[in-house]
Amino acid sequence: MKTEEVTPIKIKKADSSKIEKVDFDHLTFGSVFTDHMFVCDYVNGSWGTPEIIPYQPLVLDPSARVFHYAQAVFEGMKAYRDDKDGIWLFRPDENFNRINKSSVRMAMPEFPEDYFFEGLKTLLKLDEKWIRKGEGNSLYIRPFVIATEPSVMASPSGQYKFVIICSPAQSYYGGEVRVKIADHYSRSASGGIGAAKAAANYGAQFYPTNLANKEGYQQVIWTDSNTHEYLEEAGTMNVFFRIGDKLLTAPTSDRILDGVTRKSVIAVAEANGITVEVRPVKVEEIVAAAKSGTLKEIFGSGTAAVINPVAGFGYKEDKFELPKSSDSYASMIKKAIIDIQYNRAEDPFGWRYEVR
Ligand SMILES: *Cc1c(COP(=O)(O)O)cnc(C)c1O
Repeated sequence: MKTEEVTPIKIKKADSSKIEKVDFDHLTFGSVFTDHMFVCDYVNGSWGTPEIIPYQPLVLDPSARVFHYAQAVFEGMKAYRDDKDGIWLFRPDENFNRINKSSVRMAMPEFPEDYFFEGLKTLLKLDEKWIRKGEGNSLYIRPFVIATEPSVMASPSGQYKFVIICSPAQSYYGGEVRVKIADHYSRSASGGIGAAKAAANYGAQFYPTNLANKEGYQQVIWTDSNTHEYLEEAGTMNVFFRIGDKLLTAPTSDRILDGVTRKSVIAVAEANGITVEVRPVKVEEIVAAAKSGTLKEIFGSGTAAVINPVAGFGYKEDKFELPKSSDSYASMIKKAIIDIQYNRAEDPFGWRYEVR
């Protein structure tokens, strides 16, 4: 990016690589990690020397504040290898800006842009072999920040650790997804931390998601915490509804995560002549459209799966199935985004970022 000086990164290489032991054809998402990790500590009001070290456990004091007060934020991004061995990131500035926005909301310090990009590129080059060619293969990148100061005093930590770990991933298919529209629990609240990619948001949604799982749903569509009348997100994804030939999605707010994939879906849809209405979407409207047959699709958007179509949904006592269609917006838009990510198509939006 706009670095004038070269960021000094201390590198300690792993003695040997684990890659030979990895079965790349049977990966469980997020369970295998590459040989190295990026770490940088914040003490006395500033970030220290960034380092790349062999992937290893973190040693933290049991009183480290992250364990007690959930000062923890993260990001999810991916690196792709094209057929000519080029390595690409997708809109990484968005992730960089967002992790700092999330940090600010959690009273945590922002991370410098040159440390982030130099650290990430150096790490990806060191672990380059882990980024595999071929349809659906990618390297999932997980930057995160945690509060490390040893003290259970209920105030913001004075020490933090910024870490990046990477995990090889295959294309994600979770089977048919049926979702339950939330009418009691909420993922986030007005004035809360829903717009931050904060670890605590995930902890808070596991319990209601487990309840929905018991009723036969894979995910919950979250509604606004004030009235439960408006549809906001699907699980950990943003959510789109197709009524007739139009796409609807909720505007971002302090309850909704401003997804990179969401923005990209809106741009690709509009570039393909699809009308996208970004406005509050009422549960009532979607139920009525399902009953009258004008509701054609529901899909979630997020980095892990890009787009995840929804097969059906439940609201209170009612269950609805969505029509199966081979010319869905979901599959057209997903293909357009993936082709840009893998450098198989023109990138009119300037979204690709080459790792050299
Ligand atoms: C990460 C996330 C998304 C998707 O964001 P992308 O930038 O598209 O990956 C959507 N909703 C929530 C709650 C999230 O945490």
